[in-house]
Amino acid sequence: MTVVSRYTGGFVELAPGHVEELRTQLRGELVLPGDAHYDKARTVWNAAIDKRPAMIARCADASDVVEAVKFARRQDILVSVRCGGHNIAGKAVAETGLMIDLTPMCDVRVDPENQTAVVGGGAALGDLDRATQAFGLATTSGVVTHTGVGGLTLGGGVGRLARKFGLACDNLLSVDLVTADGDQLIVSEDDNADLFWALRGGGGNFGIATAFTFRLHEIGTEVLYAAATHRIDDAKDALRFLLDFAPAAPREVTSQAVFATMEDGSAVVTIGACHIAPLDNAEAVLAPLVRFGSPVATRLEKRPYLDVQSDADLRFPYGQNYYWKTHLLKELPDAAIDKLIERYAAVPNSKSMIVFQQFGGAVRDIGAAETAFVNRDAEFDFFPAAVWHDENEAPALIDWVRGTWAEMKPFSSGVYLNNLGDEDDRLSEAVGANEIRLREIKARYDPTNFFRLNANIKPAY
Ligand SMILES: Cc1cc2nc3c(=O)[nH]c(=O)nc-3n(C[C@H](O)[C@H](O)[C@H](O)COP(=O)(O)OP(=O)(O)OC[C@H]3O[C@@H](n4cnc5c(N)ncnc54)[C@H](O)[C@@H]3O)c2cc1C
Repeated sequence: MTVVSRYTGGFVELAPGHVEELRTQLRGELVLPGDAHYDKARTVWNAAIDKRPAMIARCADASDVVEAVKFARRQDILVSVRCGGHNIAGKAVAETGLMIDLTPMCDVRVDPENQTAVVGGGAALGDLDRATQAFGLATTSGVVTHTGVGGLTLGGGVGRLARKFGLACDNLLSVDLVTADGDQLIVSEDDNADLFWALRGGGGNFGIATAFTFRLHEIGTEVLYAAATHRIDDAKDALRFLLDFAPAAPREVTSQAVFATMEDGSAVVTIGACHIAPLDNAEAVLAPLVRFGSPVATRLEKRPYLDVQSDADLRFPYGQNYYWKTHLLKELPDAAIDKLIERYAAVPNSKSMIVFQQFGGAVRDIGAAETAFVNRDAEFDFFPAAVWHDENEAPALIDWVRGTWAEMKPFSSGVYLNNLGDEDDRLSEAVGANEIRLREIKARYDPTNFFRLNANIKPAY
């Protein structure tokens, strides 16, 4: 007998015949506890997550997803959906439930003539970027190559192209979706338009995306990259500079800032920016960022876009423990910058960071009610990120994140849905006035809240 969590609460015992029934229906692999691949298949990016699904369906195609959904509905089983496995709280892994693992579905087909790409629901950002860059094309994706296209796009999707071309979800042309009833729908402006609205920012609440079709843009393969690292004593001036520079820069430029600790133990803040094509005037635009103040190190150079897109992989590898709690910010007054510097000076270990990622530009060209993604007026996503290997460090680090987050709360303009962990109480901050419409659409397509391991939108009853 296999004991499995019900999604309606409690547990159900499955006879071996039932489990075998699912195995024979799948073209992909069904992985069970005790199988050789089990530990690998249940592992997600955040090593602090240690959940044990009763079954893992490694789906080979959309029909496998349909079979897995129908099986789970028949047996009343709790499901989770896994793409890149980057949700900070490990929502991709259903404890004692059925994990629907889309990672084998990672094909990317580029149509260079029409400048579109069809991307499998389990693809990683690196898959998307590599395939599109082969033609000098790209669409908005995030800054770490192993983040999933699935979770990132359904929750919004900000990255180095967002100020120019909008969020990842703003570049969606259509989505192939498996609903909670196991139906397969094409979802676009013309078909199931209400769902298309909800999928652009409402997360994984409405079904399982087996493929995304994106609009692509010609960006060539090179960008101009600038970075300047400042001592913590100069952090206030450096951050003040960036907060003025970043919103005023042309839309080809996206900026970020990271508080980190160097190998010699000294705290620094690095401000950086990436200028995408056209690059004719890029050097003049980014030069002030490296000339400002007295940085201890600077870079200003042309680099392949793909290289820049993998820079942050080094900071956020698999196998470390992570915790964060985030705010979107429209502005950051001097007093708040002082507080942040004070907080970073007290960071309990040298691996932890404070990160600012820029929004703005074309993200604001779309109205807050035009898609489910509501928080379009933010300038920066702010997140203190705790990173550790030694469990003994965890309590102090988690306290440090929460304390830093609390200090910035007065300046918060909301939260990015994709950065929510187990913070169900913050859903309204993420979806704002769009919550009512989202709950109505949820009630229409998933009235029993079958898809609940996500930033959960409860059906309106
Ligand atoms: C290191 C790191 C870097 C990040 N950088 C960025 C960034 O630059 N820009 C940005 O916008 N965000 C970024 N994020 C946040 C990221 O967008 C979210 O964590 C996102 O949910 C990750 O998606 P995933 O597919 O990797 O995660 P998973 O944990 O696999 O999925 C998260 C949730 O998304 C849903 N989901 C995923 N795929 C599908 C699908 N195909 N169909 C239906 N539902 C699905 C499910 O509900 C699932 O629980 C980053 C996160 C991390 C950890």
